[in-house]
Parts: sequence; C-alpha cells; structure tokens
Amino acid sequence: MIELNGGIKFGDSIVLDPTRIQPAAMVSHAHSDHLKRHKIIYGTPATLDLSGISIGSFEGIPQKYGTTSRIGECSVRLEPAGHILGSSQTIIDYQGYRVVYTGDFKLTQNDTCMPAEIHNCDILFIDTTFGKKIFDFPDYNYIKQRLLEFVEASLYKEFIPVIFAYNLGKAQEVMKIIGDAGFNTYVTELAGKYAEIHKKHGIDIKNFSTLNSQYPENGAVIMPPLSRNFDELYPAYRKRTCFVSGWALYRSYIRFRGVDEYIPLSDHASYNDLIRYIETAGPDKIYCLFGFKDIVDDLKYRGFNAVKATIANRKGVDRYVLEETNLFNQ
Ligand SMILES: [Zn+2]
Repeated sequence: MIELNGGIKFGDSIVLDPTRIQPAAMVSHAHSDHLKRHKIIYGTPATLDLSGISIGSFEGIPQKYGTTSRIGECSVRLEPAGHILGSSQTIIDYQGYRVVYTGDFKLTQNDTCMPAEIHNCDILFIDTTFGKKIFDFPDYNYIKQRLLEFVEASLYKEFIPVIFAYNLGKAQEVMKIIGDAGFNTYVTELAGKYAEIHKKHGIDIKNFSTLNSQYPENGAVIMPPLSRNFDELYPAYRKRTCFVSGWALYRSYIRFRGVDEYIPLSDHASYNDLIRYIETAGPDKIYCLFGFKDIVDDLKYRGFNAVKATIANRKGVDRYVLEETNLFNQ
C-alpha cells in the first residue's frame, strides 16, 4: 500500500521525505521542510553532504543519479530535479506501478544543479508550489541580467546592494551569478559552508567571503529574507535591498515591507511547466503537493484525475486523498 501520511510511504519498504524523524528515510533534497534528523538517510551524494551541515551526523546511503537500487519491495532510482544542488526526483516501481515523486523541482535552467527531465508514470506526486497561472517566470538570462543590473546600479549610486535569499540553494545561485560576473559576494557563514559543498560537487562559485563589519567592496551582501541582523549591518551606509524568489510575482501574498526591488528567480517549476510535466508524463493519478488549488481545478478540467494533497498529517486532506484512490488500497 502507498500512503500519504507524514511522508509518502511504500508499505514497510521506504518512506519519502517524512515530516517526522524516522529510523530510515529517502530525502529528495536538503531543504529543511524535507529533511529531518533521521538515523539513516538515502539521498544523492550532494544531498547527504548538504544535510550534514544542516542536521549533523547520520548514516548516509548515497544514491547516484540514474542508478537503480532495491529497497524492500521497491525498485528505486533518483534523477535530477533542477531545484537545488543534489535535488532529486524519485522513481519507484512498486507492485506493478511506476510512481514518480518529483520533490521540489524545476524544468528550466539553474546554474547550480543538473536540469530535470520529465518521467512517465502511473502515479505522480508533484510539487505544485507555483500552481497558479500568475507564476509565469521570465527567461533565466533575463533574470540574471536584472540581478546584475540591481548590483551595478546600486554600486554606481554608492548604495550597498543587499540581496535577500535563503541560505541554502537560492543564496548559492545568486552567489554564482554575481561571482561569475566579476563582483564579490558577502554571505552568512552557513551560506558559505553550503557554497563549499557546491564547489566539492563541481559547481564553481567565485569571489565570496563571510560577512563581517568590513565594508563590502565591489559586491553585494546576501542574507536570509528579513534577517534580524539587517538593521545593524553597516549602519553608516545607505543600502538598497532586493528579494529574489518566485513569490516576487505575487507580492500581495508575501507582504514583505521595505524591499526596494523584487526579482522572480524561482527554483520551482512555472505553472506552464507543471502542466507540461503532467501532460507528458501521462499519469493515471496525480497528487498535487503544496501550493494552490488552482492547478487541481485546471487539471480536472483537462480530464486528469488530480487531487490536492499534503505530505504532512493534516486532518481531512489526507482522508480525502485516500478516499479518492482505489489504486492504493490493494
Ligand atoms: Zn526545496
């Protein structure tokens, strides 16, 4: 039986991205909403390395992209998800069904990880974080150009450019873009540690150093959104701030105040790419994880058997999910 119950469980064989600590778990990527302090973690080598920084010691069982392994009743293969370094889609053959769990994913360019492909399946658990039509993201090169223009224009006017980006994933992506263009970046100690793991796995991130009280020469400061330290940062200097996230296209939803510029650099698939994934993969059953109900309605309209679902245990939603299916109760 496959269950959505604090993780995606395949009988007693394996559980994907459990929301509570488990003796053993398969982890799609090292973001904290997918990673807990499990005893044994199956994941890509990069995910295991990044996880070590976040959660300390555990027993890691590395799974390279494209290789199949047997775990209990499951035949399991990880493939790139294009979300952050090490992020994976999980492809499982179980009791005659091909199941794909995309994890957080993106189909278009991300300079810090391998691109994702679409995988055919019978049952699809898909990350629909941006499952609303408003999330139609611009071209990656245009986004990079906007980011560099923000840095250049701020420096020219003698402001310190401050970019709000989460410590893992987005920070290294911004560091890479800005560093490749010849500017310096000044980052938190944690973002710097994650960047070293990127370098270990072949992603060359240049010109970064740890934030301190010294003036940030010819470059940008990168720190987590609405960081408490922000007000104490370089009190004698003027700053310009920028928030980089897919949420930039839905500003009423995020309600950040005091940000000068918003750039929609997303590490999740756009609405159209979500539809493209589903139409190409051709699943009989779709579980839309995270995000909005809009896409579920659209998919039903297009003739797909789709439901809104959650990995976490939220009463009602899980029951609804399980009632909807007959595939799982065998
Ligand atoms: Zn993530």
